[in-house]
Amino acid sequence: LPERVDVLVIGAGAAGLMCAAAAGQRGRSVLVLDHANKVGKKILMSGGGRCNFTNLYTSPENFYSDNPHFCKSALARYSQWDFIALVEKHGIAYHEKTLGQLFCDNKSRDIVDLLLAECRTAKAQIRTRCAISAVRAAEAGYRVETTMGTVVCESLVVATGGLSIPTMGATGFGYDIARQFGLDIVPTRAALVPFTQHKRQLDRQSSLPGTSLAVTASCAEGSFHEQMLFTHRGLSGPAILQISSHWREGQAVTFDLAPDRNLADWLPQRRQQSPESHLHSVLAEVWSKKLVQFFLLRAEITSRPLKQVTEAELQQIGDKLQRWKLVPAGSEGYRTAEVTLGGVNTAQVSSRTMECKTQAGLYFVGEVLDVTGWLGGFNFQWAWASAHAAGEVV
Ligand code: FAD
Repeated sequence: LPERVDVLVIGAGAAGLMCAAAAGQRGRSVLVLDHANKVGKKILMSGGGRCNFTNLYTSPENFYSDNPHFCKSALARYSQWDFIALVEKHGIAYHEKTLGQLFCDNKSRDIVDLLLAECRTAKAQIRTRCAISAVRAAEAGYRVETTMGTVVCESLVVATGGLSIPTMGATGFGYDIARQFGLDIVPTRAALVPFTQHKRQLDRQSSLPGTSLAVTASCAEGSFHEQMLFTHRGLSGPAILQISSHWREGQAVTFDLAPDRNLADWLPQRRQQSPESHLHSVLAEVWSKKLVQFFLLRAEITSRPLKQVTEAELQQIGDKLQRWKLVPAGSEGYRTAEVTLGGVNTAQVSSRTMECKTQAGLYFVGEVLDVTGWLGGFNFQWAWASAHAAGEVV
C-alpha cells in the first residue's frame, strides 16, 4: 500500500523545511523528501558560512519578477521581523554586517538546526537520499513515485529551488513538474554571479586580484554602490553580483570608480592647492597606487604635474574615471551563481497561498518561483515568506 500523508514537500532546503514546519504545526501530517545526502546544503554554504538569513530593510523593491506585485502579500504576512523573532526564540546570536544584512555570529548550521527543531516540534518527517521518479495527479491529490516507495498526498509542495550550484543538488525538477501541469517557466538565467573577462584583459590586471574598491556599478535599470573585487577570472564582490542580475551578454557595465566624490570638482581644487603634484600622486589619495596605475593606463591618461593640465582636461579625466565602461566576457554561470532569475511563472500561482491557480493542491515555494532577491538576505526572506504562506493553507 502507498504511504499516505496530508502534505508532501519536495526539497528540504530553506523553503521546504519552513513550509513543513508551518504545516505540521497546524496538525497536518507532513513528509519532506530530498535527493541530496543532507538537508539545507545551500543554507550551510550561504553568507560565507554564516548565513545572511534576512535583511532588516526587506521590501518588495528588493525583488525581480515578471510580476513585481506578486511577492508583496507573502512578504507582508511573514516579514523579516517574524523570522528574527524565530531566530531569537532559538537563542541564535546574530549581528548586522552592513546595509541591514543579518548574519549568524557563529555558523549557518544554527539556521539549519532551527528549521530541524521546528520540524521536530511539528512532527514533520524528513527523508534524504530519496529520488523522485514520477508525479501524477490522483483522486483528491497526488501520487508520487520515489526510490523509497509510493507516496500519496493531498497537497504537493514543490520547493526544489533554482539551478545554481548543481554540485550542491540543484536541478530543474521543479520546472519539469510545473510544465507537466501546464504552467510556463519565465526563462531562467544565473544571477548574483561574478563576471569573467577575456585573457587579454586579465593579463592587464594581473597585479590586481584580491584588490577591492567601492564603486557604483550601473547597467540597464540597475545601479549599486558597493565593493568590487578583482579576481583571477574577472570581477566579483557585492557590486558585481548585484549588477549581474541586470546585465545581459554583450552589454557594457558603467562604473563610477570614485562614487564618494566629484572628481571634476575635486581635481581642480587639488591643482589649486598643490600645482606641482603629479596627477598620479593626487589620485593615490583616492585609490591604492596599483589601482591608480591601472586606471590611468586603461583610460589612456598620462600623469604629469597638475599645473600642466587644463581645467577642461581635468574635467575629462574626472569624467572618464567616473564613467568607466567595461564589457564583461561573460558570467561564471550556474557553477557559482547564488540564485536563478526567472522560474515558475507567477501569473499562474496565487500570491496569497502559492497554490497553482489551475491545479488544486499543487504549490510552489521559494526560489523555484519567478521571484529573485537582491544580494543581502532577501532570497532567504523570500524562501521563509513564500513557504510560510503555503504552510498556513496546505
Ligand atoms: P534550496 O535551498 O536550493 O533547496 C532546494 C532543495 O531541493 C535542495 O535541498 C535540493 O537538494 C532539493 N532538490 C532539488 N532537486 C531535487 C529533486 N529533483 N528531487 C529531490 N530534491 C531536490 N540567500 C540569502 O538570502 N542569503 C545568503 O547569505 C545567501 N548565500 C548564498 C550563498 C550561495 C553560495 C548560494 C548558492 C546561495 C545563497 N543564497 C543566499 C541564496 C539562497 O541559498 C537560496 O535563494 C535559497 O536557498 C532558496 O531556498 P529554496 O528552499 O527555494 O531552495
